[in-house]
Amino acid sequence: MITVNNLVGGYSNSPIFHGINLEIHQGEFFALLGPNGSGKTTLFKLITGQLPIIKGDIFLSGKEISTLSKLEKAKKVAVLTQEAQVSFDFTVEEIVSLGRYPHQKGLFKQLSRVDWNVIEEVMEITNISQFRKIPFRMISGGEKQRVLLAKALAQEPEILLLDEPTNHLDVKHTFQMLDLLKERQQSMGLTIFSILHDLNVASQYADRIAMLHKGCLLEVGDVDNFRKTDLLKKVYEVDIKLGSHPTISKPQLLMTPGYHQAEPCTRFENSFQIHQTKEYIHIQFDHPLRTISNGVIGDGVQWLRHFCNFYVDKNYNCSAPDRDLRNWMTKYAIPYEQAVGMMTAVQLKDVVIRHEEFEGIQMLAVVTAGTGNAVDISSRTHSKVSQSVGTINTMLFIDSHFTDGALVNGFMSATEAKSKALLDMNIKDPHSNTIATGTSTDSLLVGLTQQGEKTPSAGSGTTVGKAIGQIVYEATKEAIQKYLQRVQTK
Ligand code: ADP
Repeated sequence: MITVNNLVGGYSNSPIFHGINLEIHQGEFFALLGPNGSGKTTLFKLITGQLPIIKGDIFLSGKEISTLSKLEKAKKVAVLTQEAQVSFDFTVEEIVSLGRYPHQKGLFKQLSRVDWNVIEEVMEITNISQFRKIPFRMISGGEKQRVLLAKALAQEPEILLLDEPTNHLDVKHTFQMLDLLKERQQSMGLTIFSILHDLNVASQYADRIAMLHKGCLLEVGDVDNFRKTDLLKKVYEVDIKLGSHPTISKPQLLMTPGYHQAEPCTRFENSFQIHQTKEYIHIQFDHPLRTISNGVIGDGVQWLRHFCNFYVDKNYNCSAPDRDLRNWMTKYAIPYEQAVGMMTAVQLKDVVIRHEEFEGIQMLAVVTAGTGNAVDISSRTHSKVSQSVGTINTMLFIDSHFTDGALVNGFMSATEAKSKALLDMNIKDPHSNTIATGTSTDSLLVGLTQQGEKTPSAGSGTTVGKAIGQIVYEATKEAIQKYLQRVQTK
């Protein structure tokens, strides 16, 4: 659709490109990326014909651009640039209707019924119909951008060239505009070539990308190129890490600021407070911890500083436990947005709290255990969730700095230790009569201060992994003992 062959071009005495090649396929959404000054606008201007080609060729739909008349080009290509030249006295509708110019026939070039249908449709989809009679100068920057897009779409082009179309747009309008473009691409086969600045937005919308750096095309390909964080770091000179979106499988990037983040200087033993009542246990840290958990709220990997385990009756109706937890936390002035929340029917006075140091690493384990819903996960017997007290809730806080991999290791190590405690306490799955590996509703949280040297692994082969195993094993065993004593003395 767009073919760039051995292109040499730029400004009269200084070419920016010294023979680049690029192929944009029909019907794709192609994003051109690169830091300021890398040549994006220059390439855009060469493709739109605003700058002369020194050597090489550019083809649009198979035709070399210099052979296309202005009208032929306007039928094929619509352009939305930063520097749109429009008469500010025109109304919105008049500006959109200018987009039909290449399609108008006859000597006097009047708008036909077909033209008006197209104008109506593009004003509708860009949500500008309501100010059709208002002068362009009287609408906001974001609305102006939508009007110019409507004008470009009214052209019914094969190719849409966009220079940072979402510049000056807020988040809502950015996504609205890109959704609209994507819809046009998918439903009508529109080819989109767009300069974009936001790498994460490009990853979500583009089919392919090109990365420009100092006039050279470094990477051309699908958005998995964003996984090459070393390359991105080099090009953008920013510390970039690969992250992940919870529902979209495209790479997402996390940038780390260059300024020095003040290290929390409190010692671990002074960095938290434990507040315990009949209703709840609340562990509050001075600084957010890097957490991994399956808590009712605060699940996944996050940064959080409030950790709560709420007591509920064993017949608690758990139709909306997350809502209930938020309400209870609000009642006790605990900010639930910064919290992991768990529930238990175990009496909270039976909680086991252990604070220990293993080879210089401090750990705090807080465990409540009931084994009424004990389950052997490997058994084929189907166990129903009973109404008895039967959840093991484990919170483990570690004064160390884990990578995300070590965080997962830590979660595994704590789980293995809990299962071993159940084995040694001879806790059985009542349905299969085999040793239980956990209960049907166990919650686990591992939280890290992220102070000190980075630890890449916390599995059972490491000192820290073994330490996790020991503290969780002993705390779980003790909590189960307390639970069994209470059940037996009933
Ligand atoms: P980007 O759009 O990626 O920020 P540009 O294409 O605007 O980059 O600029 C690429 C290079 O061309 C830069 O070094 C810039 O200084 C230079 N440049 C831009 N405009 C002109 C101009 N009108 N005359 C000469 N050099 C220019």
